[in-house]
Formats: sequence, C-alpha cells, structure tokens
Amino acid sequence: MDSQEGLNRAAAPATRNEGLTSVAAADALARHGPNRLPEPPLPGPLALFFRQFRSPFIYILVIAAAVSFLLGQMSSGVFIVAVLLLNAVIGTIQEVSATRAAAALRKMVKGTAKVIRDGAPKTVDIEELVPGDLVMLASGDKVPADIRLVHSQSVAADESMLTGESLATTKNAQAMVADDAPLGDRQNQLFAGTIMTHGRARGLVTATALDTELGKIAGRLSAPRTSEPPLMIRIRKFTYKVAAAIFVAIVLLVAMMLMSGGYDAEGMILMAIGLAVSTIPEGLPAALTVALAIGMRRMAAHNVIIRKLIAVEALGSCTFICSDKTGTLTVNELTIRKVVLPDGSRFDVSGEGVSPGGAIDGNGNTDRLRDLAITGVLANESQLDYAGGEWDSSGDIVDVAFLVLAKKLGLSISDINERQRRLDMIPYESENAYSGSLNRDGDTTWLYVKGSPEKMLACCTQMIDASGTPVALDAAAIQAEFESLGRQGYRVLALARRQADSAEALADMTFLGLVAMIDPIRPEAKDAVARCRAGGIEVAMVTGDHPATARAIAAELGLCGPDDPVVTGTDIRAATAQGADAADALIRPARVFARIEPQQKEQIVTSLMRGGHFVGVTGDGVNDAPAMGAANVGIAMGKRGTDVARETADLIITDDNFASIVDGIEQGRIVYNNIRKVIALLIATGFSALLLFFLTALAGFFGPALPMPMIAVQLLWLNLVANGLQDVALAFEPKEGGELDARPRRPSEPIFERHIIEHVLLTGTVMGGLAFAVYWYVLHIGIPEAEARNLVLMQMVLFGNIHALNSRSERRSLLRIPFFANPFLICAVPLAQIIHIAALHLPVISDVLQLQPVTPREWLLLLGVASILFVVEEAHKWTVRRRDRRAAR
Ligand code: ADP
Ligand code: MG
Repeated sequence: MDSQEGLNRAAAPATRNEGLTSVAAADALARHGPNRLPEPPLPGPLALFFRQFRSPFIYILVIAAAVSFLLGQMSSGVFIVAVLLLNAVIGTIQEVSATRAAAALRKMVKGTAKVIRDGAPKTVDIEELVPGDLVMLASGDKVPADIRLVHSQSVAADESMLTGESLATTKNAQAMVADDAPLGDRQNQLFAGTIMTHGRARGLVTATALDTELGKIAGRLSAPRTSEPPLMIRIRKFTYKVAAAIFVAIVLLVAMMLMSGGYDAEGMILMAIGLAVSTIPEGLPAALTVALAIGMRRMAAHNVIIRKLIAVEALGSCTFICSDKTGTLTVNELTIRKVVLPDGSRFDVSGEGVSPGGAIDGNGNTDRLRDLAITGVLANESQLDYAGGEWDSSGDIVDVAFLVLAKKLGLSISDINERQRRLDMIPYESENAYSGSLNRDGDTTWLYVKGSPEKMLACCTQMIDASGTPVALDAAAIQAEFESLGRQGYRVLALARRQADSAEALADMTFLGLVAMIDPIRPEAKDAVARCRAGGIEVAMVTGDHPATARAIAAELGLCGPDDPVVTGTDIRAATAQGADAADALIRPARVFARIEPQQKEQIVTSLMRGGHFVGVTGDGVNDAPAMGAANVGIAMGKRGTDVARETADLIITDDNFASIVDGIEQGRIVYNNIRKVIALLIATGFSALLLFFLTALAGFFGPALPMPMIAVQLLWLNLVANGLQDVALAFEPKEGGELDARPRRPSEPIFERHIIEHVLLTGTVMGGLAFAVYWYVLHIGIPEAEARNLVLMQMVLFGNIHALNSRSERRSLLRIPFFANPFLICAVPLAQIIHIAALHLPVISDVLQLQPVTPREWLLLLGVASILFVVEEAHKWTVRRRDRRAAR
C-alpha cells in the first residue's frame, strides 16, 4: 500500500502517464494499420497525356494537320500528327517525372509526434501512432490523430478545416461534454488535421487514419488545387502576344506575296501554316517545367525543399530577407556562461554543449546560486537524459541550458522534480517571453518563473540578498547589469519566485538573479550575409531577443554597425500610432528588429513589400504563419519549425541554416536565367525564319518572284526535330558563376526587356539575313530550286546549333564557359546534326522532306557562314559586358 502511494506521488502531473508499451503499440499498429490518410492519387500518365493537348499551340498544329489533309498534302499532315504525338509523349514523360520528384520531396519532410512509450517520452513517426497512445502536444503542432485530452494547459486549437470556424476553440481536459455534441463543442477532444495554436496538452489517441473525423470526410475534401504558378501565367501571356505578332507578320507576308505574284494559293497556305508552327515557341512550356524541376532538385541538394514549384523562381527574385536570429543565424546551442545574483556576486560557467562537464567559478553564496538553478529546473519543459554513454536532450534549448547548469552544480534533476511536485504550469509561448511552474514543496506552494528580464522585473517587487532574505528591489542596478550583458552578445534571462496558490499570481515576486547564455553565430552566416549584400539583397534580423543582444549579434554578422539603432516592437507600436507613413519610415531603413512580437513580423513584411521589395521571411513558430503567408516567399525551418510554419511555407530549409537560403536564392536565379536563355533562343530562331520568308517575298518586288525558301514540312522539321532537343537541353545549364553578384531583377520586370530584345533582333537578323543571302546566291548561280532549299535548310540547322551554344550565357563568352558543364546540350547539338544528316540519307524521310545529301565541301562552307553568327554574338556579349561595367561605375 505504502509503495503504491510512493509511485503515485512520483508521477509528476496529476494524470496517469504510462502510455503504451512498445509491444502493445506494435500490436495495435498491426490491427489498425498506419495512421495515414490515402493520398489523393497523382494524375496518371494517360490523364497527363491528354492534358498535353490543351494548349493553343497544339490547336494550331491540329488545324495545320487538318488543312494539310484537306489539301491532299498527306505527307505534311502525317508529319504534323506524328510531331503532335511525339510532343505529347515527351511532355507526359516530363510531367510524370516532375510530379514523382515533387511527391518524393514532400515525403522528405516527415511529421513526427511525441508519445510516451514504455513509460518514457519518445518521438515517433506520425504514421506509427495507434489508438491508446499517450501523445504530448505543444502550440504549433498539427494534431496527428483524434485525441481525448487527459491534461491541458491553456489549450486552443484552430479547427477551421473541420468546422469552418475561423476563431481558435479553447480546449479543456476537464470539460464535460455530451456524447452527441457537435464537433465544435467537444472541448475535451482534439481532432486530427487541426492545429494547436496555444498551450500544452496530453491526451489519448482515440482514432487514427480513416477512423478520425478528418478521415471520415477525407473523401469529400476537395483535392488540393494545383494552381498555375504566376511565372507560367506571365509566360503564357507573353507567348499569346508573340503568337499575335506572328499572325500579323504572316498576314503581311501573304499580302506581299500576293502583290508580287508568282505564288500559288495552296503553296501559300501551306507556307503560312508551316511558318506559324515553326515560329510559335511551343517548346516553351516544356522547357519551363524542366527548368523549374531541375531547380527544385538542385535546391534539394542544398537543403532547400520546395513545396510549390514556382517558389524555385520566386526565391531567386527576393530583394529582402527577414531572418530569425536564434538557430538560423546562430547555431542554436545555448550555453549558460554567467550568473549574476542580486547581491552583486558573479559566477562564470565553463563547459560546452549539453554535457554537464565544466566548472562554476565565483565567490558568491552558492546556496543562492542553487535556489536560482532549482527555479530554472522547475520552470522547465525539457529533458536531459544520460543514455548510451551520451547526454541526450530534448525540448526547448533555453530550458535544456538550465538543466545543464543544475547538473554542473551537482544537483539531481529527478530529485528536484520528485521533491517538488508540479501542480500547474505556464507554458512558454513566444508572445509571452516567460514560462513558469507551480510546485508544492512540503507544505508550501511555490510559483517559479523564468523569462525576459524586462518581464521579470515588471512583476518583481523584491530581490533576494546573500542570506536569502528578500529585500527591496534595485531595478536600476539590475537593468544596467542585463543591458551590459546584452551588449556583449549574451542572451539574458531572469529568474524569480514567490509563494503562491495559483499560476496566475504573477506579481509581487522575488527576483533571484540573471543568467547570461551564448548562442554563437553560425560560422557560415557572416559570409552568407555578405553574399546577399553583394547581390543587392538586403538582410534584416527579426528577433524576440533584447535589443542589446540583437545588436551585438547583428554587428558580428556585419548586418549593422556596433552603435546603429535597433528598432523594437515598442518603437513600431509608437510609430504606428502616428500613422502608416511614420511606421514605414521607421521600418524600411532598419536592419535589426528586437523584442518583436510575432504579430509584428507581418507588419514589417507588408511594409517592406509596399516599399517595392520582394520579401522572403523565415519563421518557425505558430505565430509566424501570418507573416509567412503575407510575404512573397515564406521560408520555414525544417528542424526547429512547427508543423504550422512548415505547412504555410513555400519552401523549407532542412538544416535551418541561413546560408542554405542564400544557396537557394542562387539556384532560383540560375533557373530564371535559364528560362530567359531558352526564351531568347526560341524567339530568335522564330524571328529568323520569318525574316527569311520576308526577304524572299521582298525580293519579288525588285525582280522575278523567288520560290519559297522552305516548304512547310521542312519548317516543321527544323523547328520541332532539329531545334527541339537543344531548347530543352539549354534548361539544364548549370551555375555560370556570379549569379549572386548581379542586382536582383525588378519583380515587375517583363520577360522581354532590353537585353532580350537586342539579342533577338540582332541574332535573328543575322540568321535570317545570311540564310537569305545563301539562298539568293545559290539560285543566282543556277542551282535548282529543290537543291537550294536543301542548302538553306542545312544552313538553318547549323545556325540552330551555333545559336544554342551561343545562348549558354547572356554575357560570358562561349569560350570561357566550361565546355562540358552542360552535358545535355553538348550531346544535343551534335545529335541534332546527326539526325538531320541521317534524314538526308534515309529513303522515306528524305522523300517526305524533299531532301538530298549535302557534300562535305558544301557543309563546310555553310558552317563557315554559320560561324559568322558566333562572331556577331561574341561581339554583342562584349558590348553588353562593357555596358555593365560602365553602369557599375
Ligand atoms: P528569438 O527571436 O531569438 O528566437 P524568442 O522569441 O525565442 O527569440 O525569445 C524571446 C525572449 O523570450 C528571449 O529573449 C527570452 O527572454 C525569452 N525566452 C526564450 N525562451 C524562453 C524559455 N524557454 N523560457 C523562458 N523565457 C524564454
Ligand atoms: Mg526562438
């Protein structure tokens, strides 16, 4: 009987906390199956195949095929249909692999839950939860199953996905609820898929997977919308414009040919079709998806997991990043270095990390130091265990630091917890900046708290002296002390206690002392900040920590000078009271924000966005979700981040490291650059074909009408077979170097800006003009029509090859780009040549295309002409580089 008593007393909270044994859990898992809802099926290959035909470009091709058949041009018609099918097959393969890759990446970010198994806390995969499991939840967690609360601490949950109620519902383990109460009223339950916005909870799993309330309606939930990314929309609009321009050009061309006479109607219709098909950049959507998908994979290799494909490009457009301090810019390993007691005595603490080795030096009264350490152990939600020869900690690292301190003092954490049974607690929520615990020690009940010095001073009226007697509080001295510690870069927490009957009695407390901890900056963070700066990306640190600490860390990172002003949450509130302009004027130039409440992050983000910035913001807590949703790019921390933060984010940084964000930005810029290269290539070659026809028609006004320079099937061949491979291969271009040195592009910048326009006009004119010159010349020296076309086509294929290589960089000389950096392109270019030369020799194809072999001598001459394009483009790149250098000066 006696021992039974002892056992009950040892169990810390008032509730039972044994949980399941691992054997029972495995058994239940076998019976109930994994806790996972069936995923909405990915679209199958067949569906994706048919989707390929939903494009205006394809409609044009279909019409072209129909007209060809009507005119009895069987070969053209069959060719177009073959190309249509090939296009769809390639598109399907690409999309299948892209959706598979995206699904695989999503799986990399797994959800876990904290449960009690075999009497000890354990983190398990959400899928391993079974009915009967005892789960522990904290604010920011996504509820992993349906749960009956056994213990709750100021719990509130966002159940909007189930009930439609947007306000958070408060929950209480003690609430009495009728069995048939509607979901929204079941106060003692938490439901799978909802989000804990506040508090701490323990509860028993009542249902998993399809048995949960969410599972019951899962079939009725609408499948996630796969909305088209803005970049895609922008590009589609752009291609419509291009298509319209092409239409006008072709009408003009037909009019010219009619006027000059000498062309038959059927030939002109076929030419118009061929020209439309070949100048419209139908390869663009495919190249775009490829570019984004490659970017996604490359980012994953840099610890950046993309949740929405478009975030690949969006990340590259960021002009401003608001970053957390703790864990992102710092290593997130807090170690207590100094303790300062109210009587003025100081202690220095040595030792690293969570291992309790290390010493405490000082000349003060160690009894008072013990009081402080015990408060730190009790107002604590973390664990520190010695298992397998190593110290293993879990929970908030601030809390862990206090357990380590107690260990260094030789205190037994389990003895303290057993001696002082916990009656109630104040969980740490970042908007409060403190946490506490109500414990019974013998006949007295104590309230222990720790938190930010400002908060603690505000509720203390006394402080403890060397003998342990409370004396009047010397707030000014303490204030001076913690500010001085803050200026040295320490994160400072204060501790206090009082006798009390409830956890609400947070006033009239006795101050116990200050604790200073270090959280070293990440070694790579300083460099990453500098790289951002070089690339014209502003970085700001937004933290809940004290301004002095924030400034010291920011100065170390090079974010601000050692005496630069720091904007605090209080400053922002005061400025906002004066009006939005005053707030903007305060926020926009600032680079260090301290004592910011989570809600104020959103204000900072929106102010910067209104100021014209493209803002990326990092977040980890449940309160960061609004800011992340409002920003252009929401970045969640994979390790530290709560479920909510991860689900709101556009992308997740798996190592929480600021440097990874910067790597991601670089990859995003590479993707956008590649998209530009592909566009420039496609438009330039389309333009050159148009020009060739125009010049031919124009020549008819000055002399006898010339025959068409290419027939319809030849145009199709050139566009889809000879050039098609190279377009897509260009999307694989790797980093050129210097991507981060360029200014970020204006978010509103159109795709067709100065450089691309110049490039298209120049290279298109050279290709079209030279091809016409060749055509005119060979006709002039009496070479027959068909043979002349044959040579022109070879000329155009060669131009395509050279131009694909030229397009590898907008600015850098081709000779300076490592040749094999893009193996796809290096294979695609000769392959295009080989396919074309093979077509000249193969019986059926050469008949359809009306081709014949080209002699080596002719081929070399044509290659000579094509290399003029290389020279011209190199010259253009040179002027662009010179212009850039001038602009930089
Ligand atoms: P950061 O922006 O560096 O992540 P936080 O929002 O985590 O800052 O913390 C803000 C303040 O809250 C800290 O400066 C500290 O005073 C207090 N604080 C942080 N963690 C705890 C904790 N576990 N218990 C009590 N107070 C804490
Ligand atoms: Mg924090």
